[in-house]
Amino acid sequence: MATKTWETIKTIYCNRIQQEVALEVLMVYPSETLPDGAPQVIAHRCSDGLACNTLEKPACMWAGTNPTYDPFADDQVTSEA
Ligand code: SF4
Repeated sequence: MATKTWETIKTIYCNRIQQEVALEVLMVYPSETLPDGAPQVIAHRCSDGLACNTLEKPACMWAGTNPTYDPFADDQVTSEA
């Protein structure tokens, strides 16, 4: 059976909520019985995206409320995994 797991690929200090957040990817690893497939990324999310989605002002593309702003693409990157 394939294994799915969320993994952090980048962290930043987000000015919108004034705290550290993580860009995460949902990885799917092949099963042990069919090991020939390569791991695949099937989704991205911000670790605080759901909370931001409930704010009354536009946040960013990861909250789904401002598709033109990606804080993880800014120069504010504090670390990359
Ligand atoms: S969803 Fe966007 S605005 Fe909200 S915490 Fe994550 S990066 Fe910041």
